[in-house]
Amino acid sequence: MEKGMALYQSAQFIDLWTDPEFDKIHPPRTVAPHSGIYRCVGCGVEIAVAEGHLLPPIHAHPHRLGTKEAWQMIVYADHRQKPG
Ligand SMILES: [Zn+2]
Repeated sequence: MEKGMALYQSAQFIDLWTDPEFDKIHPPRTVAPHSGIYRCVGCGVEIAVAEGHLLPPIHAHPHRLGTKEAWQMIVYADHRQKPG
């Protein structure tokens, strides 16, 4: 667990997907538009947030000084019922 990025074990549960939602940068303490894993663009810290909940406020994690503190969704959690 030392790679410094999100990890997974089974590739069958994760799909590569391109969507502008992954490009959006969200300021601290704003509402997460989707459930998923968000990454601080300045220091790389990752958090899990549920849709509609607030992203962490500024200075809530040991952030690297001098870098931008904001959140980008890196993994989307799909809550929809699956076929079959
Ligand atoms: Zn940070």
